[in-house]
Amino acid sequence: MQEKKADLVVLGGGPGGYSAAFRAADLGRKVTLIEKSPVLGGVCLNVGCIPSKTLLHLAEVIEDAEKLAPLGVSFGKPTFDLEKIRAHRDSVIGTLTGGLDSLCKARKVERIVGTGTFLSDTGLKVVTDKEELKLTFEDLIIAVGSRSVQIPGIPYEDERVWDSTKALELTHIPKRLAIIGGGIIGLEVATMYHALGSRITIIEMMDSLIPPADADLKQPLVRKLKKQYEAIYTSTKVEKVEAKKEALVLHLKGEKAPETIEADAVLVAVGRKANSDGIALENTSIKTNTRGWIEVDKKLRTNVAHVFAIGDVVGDPMLAHKSSHQGKVAAEVASGHASAFTPMGIPSVAYTSPEVAWIGLTEAEAKQKGIAFKKGSFPWMANGRALSAVCVA
Ligand code: FAD
Repeated sequence: MQEKKADLVVLGGGPGGYSAAFRAADLGRKVTLIEKSPVLGGVCLNVGCIPSKTLLHLAEVIEDAEKLAPLGVSFGKPTFDLEKIRAHRDSVIGTLTGGLDSLCKARKVERIVGTGTFLSDTGLKVVTDKEELKLTFEDLIIAVGSRSVQIPGIPYEDERVWDSTKALELTHIPKRLAIIGGGIIGLEVATMYHALGSRITIIEMMDSLIPPADADLKQPLVRKLKKQYEAIYTSTKVEKVEAKKEALVLHLKGEKAPETIEADAVLVAVGRKANSDGIALENTSIKTNTRGWIEVDKKLRTNVAHVFAIGDVVGDPMLAHKSSHQGKVAAEVASGHASAFTPMGIPSVAYTSPEVAWIGLTEAEAKQKGIAFKKGSFPWMANGRALSAVCVA
């Protein structure tokens, strides 16, 4: 195995990793960025935020065009050329990932396309197409992200069973799409496939959609989705999915849900799991919690002082802007600057139609914690911008 010495290593090239690499390079560190994929950008650019927002924009335009007909502007029934839609999605992704390549070159960040696993608290094994390297490092920032959670009882080998990555591939438009999980990702995928013509059923184990957001905040969305979708079953568990030739059969358990429903495709969107189990942390003293999230302090240091961790791999909220800000902070701390991750709030947005956004303590959390608060609200029906954009259901 070839041996090399490195100054600051970043493991993972998603929004957390590339932000950390760029900031550290700007601060004068010699940075080695290790990413197993030949393209940078991680989940967000390649199979997350960017493809989903590109397709959601099309969904919004399609829906707005339909709403305009009664107001005197008609475009006719939309037709879909999936090949062109996919090409548009890929060109948006390509522009952004290409931009990252240029930013890396401009900062002389050394890139290695390979998979990194720990050998010790100071050493990393990197396997590339051509060789195996042993890298010893001064500082290292772990930014290996997360992946979709799988639940038992689902035939994942069946090509009609999707995770979010498969859903965003847009291979075809299923007639009936069942979505397990009524969180942000589930509802965003529902929004795009509904606009493209799928009949949507949502099954959510909690008693409401987008569980973290306050009830009154999401009420306009929930009211609209109840009219648009085939069914929304909350407080309902999917016990198993049977793959029959003609359809997927979902077995449900919930007071108001039928025992079974049929679908032509099923999206499983029940949360994401940290990728901390794929980097041989057992060869180090780095600690994770019971959920597999790497434990860090406000300076984003793990319990090994020269190893930092950022982004989805340190836990909720799993959002790109949190990852990139943590990347900046970790690079600064590793480079001797007085920086810390102490946000007053981190904004969350469901890019549904209408969108739902929140930040900081919710009303429900304030009540639960006995914190006194004042509440202000303003109805969308009285909001000129909302009315003029025809976005009120
Ligand atoms: P990731 O983006 O997961 O990047 C980790 C990188 O590490 C990957 O490129 C991976 O290949 C690499 N890696 C892993 N293990 C190794 C290894 N051993 N060696 C080398 N490389 C490795 N967030 C938002 O803020 N807004 C949104 O609108 C939004 N929409 C989303 C839509 C979808 C469908 C999904 C799935 C997610 C969305 N997110 C959104 C979440 C966002 O994508 C993540 O929070 C963000 O990508 C996390 O960044 P990260 O750098 O921590 O990890």
